[in-house]
Amino acid sequence: MKLNIDYQEKFEQRHIAPNEQDTAGMLETIGINSLDELIAQTVPSNIRLKSSLNLPNAKSEFDYLNDLKVTASKNKVFKSYIGQGYNDVIVPGVIQRNILENPGWYTQYTPYQAEIAQGRLQALLNFQTMVVDLTGMEIANASLLDEGTAAGEAMFMQYSLRKNTNANIFFVSEEVLPQTIDILKTRSAPYGIEIMIGDHRTVELNDSMFGAIVQYPAGNGEVYNYKDFAAKGHEKGIKLTVVVDIMSLSLLTPPGEWGADIVVGSSQRFGVPMGFGGPHAAFFATKDEYKRSMPGRIIGVTIDSAGNYALRMALQTREQHIRRDKATSNICTAQALLAIMAGMYAIYHGPTGIKLIAERIHGLAVLLKDSLQSLGYKQENESFFDTLRFDLGDLVNSIHAEALNNEVNLNYKGSIVTISLDETTSFDDVQTLVRLFAKVKGKNLHDVDTDNLKDAIKLHIPSELERTSAYLSHPIFNSHHSEHEMLRYIKSLEAKDLSLCHSMIALGSCTMKLNATTEMVPVTWAEFGKMHPFAPSDQVGGYMQIFDELNKWLSEITGFAAMSLQPNAGAQGEYAGLMVIRAYHQDRGDFQRTVALIPSSAHGTNPASAAMAGMKIVIVKCDEKGNIDVADLKAKAEEHAENLSCLMVTYPSTHGVFEESIIEVCETIHKYGGQVYMDGANMNAQVGLTSPATIGADVCHLNLHKTFCIPHGGGGPGMGPIGVAKHLVPYLPGHPVVAIGNEKSIPAVSSAPWGSASILLISHAYIAMMGSEGLTNATKYAILNANYIKSRLEKHYPVLYSGSQGRCAHEMILDCRSFKNFGIEVTDIAKRLMDYGFHAPTVSFPVAGTVMIEPTESEPKHELDRFCDAMISIRSEIKEVEAGTSDKIDNPLKNAPHTSAVVTADEWDRSYSRQKAAFPLPYVAAFKFWPSVGRVNDTHGDRTLICACPPIESYTEELV
Ligand SMILES: *Cc1c(COP(=O)(O)O)cnc(C)c1O
Repeated sequence: MKLNIDYQEKFEQRHIAPNEQDTAGMLETIGINSLDELIAQTVPSNIRLKSSLNLPNAKSEFDYLNDLKVTASKNKVFKSYIGQGYNDVIVPGVIQRNILENPGWYTQYTPYQAEIAQGRLQALLNFQTMVVDLTGMEIANASLLDEGTAAGEAMFMQYSLRKNTNANIFFVSEEVLPQTIDILKTRSAPYGIEIMIGDHRTVELNDSMFGAIVQYPAGNGEVYNYKDFAAKGHEKGIKLTVVVDIMSLSLLTPPGEWGADIVVGSSQRFGVPMGFGGPHAAFFATKDEYKRSMPGRIIGVTIDSAGNYALRMALQTREQHIRRDKATSNICTAQALLAIMAGMYAIYHGPTGIKLIAERIHGLAVLLKDSLQSLGYKQENESFFDTLRFDLGDLVNSIHAEALNNEVNLNYKGSIVTISLDETTSFDDVQTLVRLFAKVKGKNLHDVDTDNLKDAIKLHIPSELERTSAYLSHPIFNSHHSEHEMLRYIKSLEAKDLSLCHSMIALGSCTMKLNATTEMVPVTWAEFGKMHPFAPSDQVGGYMQIFDELNKWLSEITGFAAMSLQPNAGAQGEYAGLMVIRAYHQDRGDFQRTVALIPSSAHGTNPASAAMAGMKIVIVKCDEKGNIDVADLKAKAEEHAENLSCLMVTYPSTHGVFEESIIEVCETIHKYGGQVYMDGANMNAQVGLTSPATIGADVCHLNLHKTFCIPHGGGGPGMGPIGVAKHLVPYLPGHPVVAIGNEKSIPAVSSAPWGSASILLISHAYIAMMGSEGLTNATKYAILNANYIKSRLEKHYPVLYSGSQGRCAHEMILDCRSFKNFGIEVTDIAKRLMDYGFHAPTVSFPVAGTVMIEPTESEPKHELDRFCDAMISIRSEIKEVEAGTSDKIDNPLKNAPHTSAVVTADEWDRSYSRQKAAFPLPYVAAFKFWPSVGRVNDTHGDRTLICACPPIESYTEELV
């Protein structure tokens, strides 16, 4: 027997689930001879790529990780005292392994289907409670993308709440971190908001200002008392946003107690790795009276159908879809997973633990100050939490060199040096710092009387700013301090949530595909996790290589000239792309080009982002087939020719169709001087077959958390890099701290230069391990799987829209509107699917009363069949209602989902059997997933809005 020693395991065969036999069976059901024939019938020939993607050969998982180790070693992990919004942390092992590295937490979808998401809803409610407690505010949301953009959202909220509509000046303290100031510049420009940067101690507040923002402790480390500043502002109708360091708030009087209207910040230092910039969860807290103007998602308490405690997303759940360009923000994907980690960190340490950590940080900072002062260095901050400031004059270069010799990074600004301590800083680390500062003065450690200094460490915070109020007093933060209890708490929540560990999540437009373990593994390597985003460029070679390669590969895939890896989510990409288009027009003197054409079928973030970019939105009609009405588009483009900025178009369309008119559509826009922005959420139907550049777009974003395998995290993290054609490259976002970009670059759109850098590794791994052929096959199989489902289900449900040859792209819409005639809503179908062990597809987008199904290439035929069987079985349950054999109200659809408590109760008075309720198909019994609550009551929750853990009086074991 000849042995095959050339055998190489192919990652492609792990990622793409259908095998040969599956494929043959699916093609037969569809009634077509080959996969290529199916693709030819689906993707119009005039937009097909002429050649395969020019990408490196696919690597095996084993080889990829080995090679990545070499790349990783080009990152030098120095001890970071840079601070500036990013601090090293100790991630509790129980949280790292059981949340950050656990697909039971990271593969979940955003909790729209509350009944099978109670675990993360509780974890996010804990996060909100933690933020409310620490900031001293009344209400908090369940995370924003980063500190800088949270400040941007705060500015918008202040602006929209302003009483004096002539006020357009926003005062920004010069001690707000530079990346935040840059984002405020980006965000203010399109609104005509004027940013005034100055010293809060001397500024003359006046009526033309609508808001102000300060940092606490300030960027230079000083702890200012802003109480009078806040009061003076309020007299003039000026609202105040305070950017805070969450760790410091266990020692400092929280802003809610001295007059803040909004408090924002990053929760990174609550146990989330720096990751060279992210992902981290920002928080946003405000007063109760402003809750309806708050950006982002808020988790709220309500009851379920049995009257029991239940949670769900409150108020503006689908805000952009409802309010479109009037939405309070364009935030869709946020940072759920990281917010959950930060909340768990607070639970694990509790108020006492958090305070001890903060005290140690502060105490070591005081010790360092005293030690360096005894060496003759003058520390400049009158009071501080963790950051010391020195003017080193001529000594700065020697200190800098000596610090590098010791693998230590400080923060340098001319001769000014700041040193920020964190929870990883030890007494030995302080001694290392003292030694290097001593050496430069020709002294050594023995010249410092450490023992005496140690005994004299006292709080270095003015007494009026010492925190006296309690925080984290809820039982949830005082119960799980042993590792076993913590582990079991984490697992108890995980068990309530349906994730990709259980079954496919066929979310149209959201591409819930495999998040392969090998792709995830490097994210927690120290060489990537422990990197500060502002580390010197000669220490970050590994990351630079990854970014270079990813930039090249994504450019090849999109057909564009270059990418910006900065935007932190798809909607941020939209905003960045539109701002780039704006800069391009303005650079050519076309300041009047502000009209954005947006088809009526667009995702809600499109108009919301366009509004943020200062554009005037003109809606383009869709025809009865769901396609862009080309005649209407031409008319509108011509009508607005003078002022046309761009078209925003999703391709293939949000209706799951490759519109054949796309080339003509793009040409029309170009003819009238506009640019084409392509929403790349549906890129999973394009990769390797066609591309944004091929169809004629100028810019697009890619949702790396859809097409390129970053897990959805239960509502984030994500990444939304943008690709642009050559003429737009000069305008890609810059950054105020790290030199990227050029003089034409728009200012930053995210806090960190490469956004949530550490998760770019996931997409890097995916592309490297798939190669050109693998990626192209993934697209083909995504289309095959979708068309297979269509073939199986179209006999039971009308399929809305298909291509000219009857094919759908990678997703399809099932029309459920006619069931309304017998009282069955699309929501009933979504909830009933839970009883079958499935998460519903996308409900009521882009068409109300429908579901949109996207299976992805990572699902095997077996799983598709289980799903189709469930949908067909549900259809027959609807028929029973239709035929009158099932009661209109007392039926399994209306009562869905069924909890184990309901099904096993001593009493059962329903018109159908318990078996039918809980085990409607034979396969369900083999692997039953029980929804943990009955159907949640949305209106009850919105009427009595509770957005923090309920008080102790109403507290029972069950509530956690
Ligand atoms: C997901 C999606 C977006 C928004 O992307 P986020 O990453 O959630 O901000 C925009 N458009 C479409 C069509 C989408 O499916």
